[in-house]
Amino acid sequence: MTAEIRTVTILGCGVLGAQIAFQSALKGFPVTAYDINDEALAAARVRFDKLAATYLKSVAGVDEAATKAALGRLTLTSDLSAAAASDLVIEAVPEVLTLKEDIYRKLGELAPAATIFATNSSTLLPSDLKDSTGRPDRFLALHFANMIWLHNTAEVMGSADTDPAVHAAVVAFATAIGMVPIELHKEKSGYVLNSLLVPLLRAGLELVAGGYAEPGDVDQTWRIGTGAPAGPCQIWDVVGMRTGYNIMSHGDEEEQRLAVWLKQNYIDKGKLGLESGEGFYKYV
Ligand code: NAD
Repeated sequence: MTAEIRTVTILGCGVLGAQIAFQSALKGFPVTAYDINDEALAAARVRFDKLAATYLKSVAGVDEAATKAALGRLTLTSDLSAAAASDLVIEAVPEVLTLKEDIYRKLGELAPAATIFATNSSTLLPSDLKDSTGRPDRFLALHFANMIWLHNTAEVMGSADTDPAVHAAVVAFATAIGMVPIELHKEKSGYVLNSLLVPLLRAGLELVAGGYAEPGDVDQTWRIGTGAPAGPCQIWDVVGMRTGYNIMSHGDEEEQRLAVWLKQNYIDKGKLGLESGEGFYKYV
């Protein structure tokens, strides 16, 4: 059965969930935005208003009428049964396995049999979660990048159990909301983007932390040598030292050593990257 996706729910309206919800609404989809309680929904409302302002400022062709219409297509709720009724439910709750399993179990009981579930998880595989959904054939990962209006890839990755028709329907949905769908043929931790990016960031950090070269020279080499617009240290500053630290802390022995170096030399000194005005570079 190929499901055409007409309505969408986003579970968890934090950093990424709010972006996915707003982007989908902007492209004309009725969106149910679910979060746990009134306080979280109030925070989501603030996020949506900020996103409307950001889109107005930074996305070509988006005017006030469009952002107003997008806000009008968003229905905020803390009632999971109302949230479960859409054709597609995209889960963007915190990256905690037990928390995700818990919400999938509840959702699996409430949602119509045809509803597709998708996780935006950055580090868990669909296989890690599929049993809790009760519908492994209608479940896959749909992974967005932060600032989706700018970085508009949507990585689509099923488990071996995912129905190819479900995969195709989600690819069509991603396209319909203005994303470039990146289809993975099988499960891969890190999808495509982070499979490429994490080793690059690690190598850049190794060169700097090991005292081999200055951040500016590492970046210049990469830019001139490959034609890429930015080098690894520039990307570190955008990603933020805290996010990088969290990823490296869970890596192999060398990555854990690099994480400690990053903490001592940057995080503890308040140099968090772009967000604090200083990382490998100074921003004023
Ligand atoms: P976040 O902490 O900003 O937002 C999580 C939201 O989920 C919050 O609004 C919170 O109130 C809500 N929530 C908490 N418990 C819940 C529950 N039981 N049911 C429903 N909602 C609940 O997190 P985030 O950064 O948006 O990340 C969410 C997911 O997106 C994670 O799986 C993460 O790996 C993934 N992701 C994040 C980024 C990123 O750059 N932040 C990028 C790609 C993917």
